[in-house]
Amino acid sequence: MTDLHALLRRQLARATGADGAVNIARLTRMINEAYQEVDKERRRTDHSIREMVAELDHRAQHDVLTDLANRSYFSSWLRHAIGPASDPARIAVFFLDLDRFKEVNDTLGHPAGDELLRGVSSRLREAVGELGLVSRLGGDEFAVALPQDSTGITPAELARRIIRCLAVPFDVEGQRISIGVSIGIALCPDNGAAPTDLLRCADMALYRAKHAGKGTYCFFEDEMSRAARYQKQMEEGLREALECGHFELYYQPIVEAQTMRTRAFETLLRWHHPNRGLITPSDFIPVAETTGLIVPIGEWVIRNACQQARAFDPSMSIAINLSPAQLGSERIVRVFEEALADSGMHPSRIEVEITESVLLREDLQTRTVLARLRGLGLRFSLDDFGAGYSSLGYLQKFHFDKLKIDRSFCSGINSNPVSAALVRAIAGLGRDLGIAVVAEGIETAQQSAALAAEGCGYLQGYFHGRPAPAPAFTAGSDDAASLAARLRDRLQRPLAPPFAAAS
Ligand code: C2E
Ligand code: MG
Ligand code: MG
Repeated sequence: MTDLHALLRRQLARATGADGAVNIARLTRMINEAYQEVDKERRRTDHSIREMVAELDHRAQHDVLTDLANRSYFSSWLRHAIGPASDPARIAVFFLDLDRFKEVNDTLGHPAGDELLRGVSSRLREAVGELGLVSRLGGDEFAVALPQDSTGITPAELARRIIRCLAVPFDVEGQRISIGVSIGIALCPDNGAAPTDLLRCADMALYRAKHAGKGTYCFFEDEMSRAARYQKQMEEGLREALECGHFELYYQPIVEAQTMRTRAFETLLRWHHPNRGLITPSDFIPVAETTGLIVPIGEWVIRNACQQARAFDPSMSIAINLSPAQLGSERIVRVFEEALADSGMHPSRIEVEITESVLLREDLQTRTVLARLRGLGLRFSLDDFGAGYSSLGYLQKFHFDKLKIDRSFCSGINSNPVSAALVRAIAGLGRDLGIAVVAEGIETAQQSAALAAEGCGYLQGYFHGRPAPAPAFTAGSDDAASLAARLRDRLQRPLAPPFAAAS
């Protein structure tokens, strides 16, 4: 930094002759030069500061990893592009979510995930070019704003272009990685004229696109709002049900084919809704799973099933259904440990029912949790066998104690030769592997007899007993503590209204 004071003193010394006289003309020139020098420096400093301000602005508006616009910049850009509410511009807003990104991140690690996200960003930038703005909203979620009036491409054409360009495999750390993308699209002004509304609508459309099979795009429709509202109401209802004790466990007997004696009960959750009456799990478990509420609800099921089972005959097991999301954390191991300790149940009396979708996840966490649950001494059943992705490889990877043949095969045992052949094959498989086989969904005596004849060792269905609340008095209920627990449970249950109010 130039020291003006020292500079001027030097100039004065230079302009002063040996006789002490000052050459005023020379000094004036020198002073002007000194000022010019200081001014030049000042301009250089201003320029650096302006650059720094621009850099800070850029950082505040862009994502560090990909350098794409971030959510807040995207929103303000969009707000500006939409213009006045009285005359909003026509703009399509895309909400993108990568398919299979989590798998890559989980298996190859975060640095590989980051590299993939950078690769995706540059392809998106290329696909959209000057047509609109691309943003990374966070994680593997991106957004695109496509002004309509000035561009010659329709939203559907751009969506197809993006899907095509992200379908080409990526080269990440020397490996070929295939992912894909699902896209939800909302239109301004048809679906809203505020960035938050448009992103919310595009997100709802994305949800539909993902469920339609991924690698596809979907436009927002009004009916999706209704579905989202329904989901929100269900979510609030489920929270209230947990807090206010609106859940109840029903039990369905599983009988031994040879003796026709009940050997186990399957625990099936019921929701006594204050206005809608009794709701069965197929109506609320999916919402509980997507909202994560299945974790606390599942814990309630485990604790209560173990408590109530104290009143059952000690020779009987109880089967408890677990959703994949419940196996995402080792907390469930502690929940079982505590429930077993509190109830005094022997772990071998508990059969954990999981479906093939759990094993399909193949992540380390799920495998660890399953191994720890098995380490507690719990037993495992593969539920709805044959209904899902059915890979026999699962039977090699994980040891099951029971295979439950899906109802869709059992109900056709007397009428459909293909169902009969499949039941026979599964029963043979169970016999050879030493795994007990349960036939589910038996509604008639003929089905029961045929399934037993095909080698199913256990039978379950309305014919053998419908799911029902735990009987108040069963063997073992002479234990005062368990009887008191059951009666207390009954008292806490809300009275079902005589008529279900219209929803
Ligand atoms: P699931 O584990 O396969 O349970 C058997 C389902 O079949 C039950 O439906 C039961 O009521 C029904 N069922 C039994 N016998 C018959 C029959 O003869 N005919 C017909 N038509 N149906 C029969 P529910 O209680 O509605 O439960 C549906 C599913 O919800 C269960 O299928 C299970 O996957 C899930 N679920 C139930 N309770 C829980 C729970 O506490 N936690 C979790 N995560 N899932 C649960
Ligand atoms: Mg089950
Ligand atoms: Mg089942």
